[in-house]
Amino acid sequence: MKTLRYIAGVTTLLLDVETCVGCGMCQEVCPHQVFKLRAKKTEIVDLDACMECGACATNCLVSAISVTPGVGCASYIIQTWFKGKAPYTKCC
Ligand code: SF4
Ligand code: SF4
Repeated sequence: MKTLRYIAGVTTLLLDVETCVGCGMCQEVCPHQVFKLRAKKTEIVDLDACMECGACATNCLVSAISVTPGVGCASYIIQTWFKGKAPYTKCC
């Protein structure tokens, strides 16, 4: 999964660093290593790796993360997997 890439600059992922309490849950649940915990705050270190699965936002207890799951490229890639078509190359 780490090799899949989103189209650059279009993910809906947003992080409110001020609200983050540094629990590290987002880093734990993200399948694409988008976050890195540093000095008790999380940072987005690879924005375009986000596939908008929503796991980080769902598991953040202080609602410091927002993302609109299931739209855009991630949805397209999943559809191509199920339908057996070659994915759009700029997504991966
Ligand atoms: S899950 Fe929320 S509070 Fe915890 S590190 Fe991530 S953004 Fe911060
Ligand atoms: S939405 Fe999914 S892929 Fe994107 S940062 Fe959150 S956990 Fe990682």
